[in-house]
Amino acid sequence: MHLLKLSPQIKNTYWNIPQKNFRTSLTQFGERKKNRILHLYPTCKSESRDRKLPFFESQRFSTINNKKEIRKMATIVPQVVSLDPTTIPIDYHTPIDDLNIEVKDINKEACPADEGLIVFLLNSAPKDNSKSDKGESSGAIKINSNMNDKTINEFLKEGNMENFTGKVGTSKSFYVANEKKKYISLAYVGCGPANEETELEIRKIAYTLATLLHENKNKKVSIVFELKLEENLFRFFLEHLFYEYVTDERFKSADKSTNIDYIKSLSLYMANADIYKGQVDKARVYFYGTYYAAQLIAAPSNYCNPVSLSNAAVELAQKVNLECKILDVKELEDLKMGAYLSVGKGSMYPNKFIHLTYKGAKKGDKGNTKKKIALIGKGITFDSGGYNLKAAPGSMIDLMKFDMSGCAAVLGCAYCIGTMRPDNVEVHFLSAVCENMVSKNSYRPGDIITASNGKTIEVGNTDAEGRLTLADALVYAEKLGVDYIVDIATLTGAMLYSLGTSYAGVFGNNDQLINKILNSSKTSNEPAWWLPIINEYRSSLNSKYADLNNISSSVKASSVVASLFLKEFIEKTPWAHIDIAGVSWNFKARKPKGFGVRLLTEFVLNDAV
Ligand SMILES: [Zn+2]
Repeated sequence: MHLLKLSPQIKNTYWNIPQKNFRTSLTQFGERKKNRILHLYPTCKSESRDRKLPFFESQRFSTINNKKEIRKMATIVPQVVSLDPTTIPIDYHTPIDDLNIEVKDINKEACPADEGLIVFLLNSAPKDNSKSDKGESSGAIKINSNMNDKTINEFLKEGNMENFTGKVGTSKSFYVANEKKKYISLAYVGCGPANEETELEIRKIAYTLATLLHENKNKKVSIVFELKLEENLFRFFLEHLFYEYVTDERFKSADKSTNIDYIKSLSLYMANADIYKGQVDKARVYFYGTYYAAQLIAAPSNYCNPVSLSNAAVELAQKVNLECKILDVKELEDLKMGAYLSVGKGSMYPNKFIHLTYKGAKKGDKGNTKKKIALIGKGITFDSGGYNLKAAPGSMIDLMKFDMSGCAAVLGCAYCIGTMRPDNVEVHFLSAVCENMVSKNSYRPGDIITASNGKTIEVGNTDAEGRLTLADALVYAEKLGVDYIVDIATLTGAMLYSLGTSYAGVFGNNDQLINKILNSSKTSNEPAWWLPIINEYRSSLNSKYADLNNISSSVKASSVVASLFLKEFIEKTPWAHIDIAGVSWNFKARKPKGFGVRLLTEFVLNDAV
């Protein structure tokens, strides 16, 4: 990590601060001297990062070249007491950056067996229906790959499979001596039946593998693929392995990262290695975009508030070279965003509307076919429900820091697009960020508010706030004159009942666009399913006094109703709405999934061509 060049007046203050304390020191500085410079960001170009990235035109993070802009756009975070956090701690550098990854062809190069951990990914034995009517595997699992060590080859040929069936997510570890009498670690990881791997199996395999890596503490790991994966699934395997492997320790008091021995070298031995090599760099980018989003979501609401989140967006824009605009309350008032502004009134943090822009170069003979896309993420940094307080059992108020997952997905995508820099596409990354709280200034149930397209809305429920913020964001997006608008939001808890925790729901006003999203869902391995917007239910949003109500009093299909509400704020642009309320949080692992980063990025990349 380099420090950026400091301006002379503050140079003396900072020059001797150890690099690892840099962010903390700045936070303290920001607290003490609020009228001076609030945020200065260390750049994150790693010295060890000299790998070539043919896939990308730019370095992962550019150096900060426009400090003036940062000062102008980053804003002071209000505090109640001086100990309140003023920034979201974000790890821009992860152990994956220091990891050397090589893809090798197992048919041309035998895997060495002299150090580290060697893992075999194994399918379960083919089913033998004549022997088992339960469809259980009955044949033996064979390892075909050759190691460049006679003793280890013997060991593998002996079929040391005792009780190892290759069931997906299972593993078996050995400690064996090679021909030089040196002990090495071997492990089998079960991948289930051949050719039946989906993202679900890959997630299980990656999880088992990540656990193995942590337990083994070897710096060097080789993975031998005894199975064939389709390219996208291979990339997803890497992304998910990294995601499961890297531990988020930002909020632990002790500096624990020094205690985890992350691997430094990863060799992947597989057949037809050449077709997979191109996926490694993309996997790194997708991993980090996802991990970045997850860091924002996991940051609790006392760290992640509308101001600190918008500052994080400014910081990101600087790092990956995006245009950046943060709209303040005054500008939002000028735009008449009454719906969005109402939601944030009860918070001590002012509303901040994030607008980052990526403009890809026009290339090729496509002339004017440059696509313009707006991606909108719901950004409620904490959703108390407002006066319709989330007090009922099951309303999960303790999880409500996650209600900005849509914003996180859009920013994660901004990272990926800013890094990969595709041609012929212009992307607007938008989020109407605010906090839904209870106070004397809060909006009330029954209030009638006016959105920026002039429509009046009766607030039937202050907890249906996401759609109010999205309403103004959709109007704003349409004014940009884009070809597509896609919003992503933890919008309705009802998604947990319709599609559960694995699939996001996709709604929209344009079948062609929805199909593009579903296709991106496939190539990104982030599952989504098309759900209908049922016009018959529109009348249930009618209000006696206003143009419409923000909830339906009669229809229980609230995800559909929410989509009907949003549709009121789109005039003619093809629009898709992705409801990630069910999928954003991994309840079992108690952490975010960073869902949507890859899906949105694949959408932009697939559509940019
Ligand atoms: Zn809510």
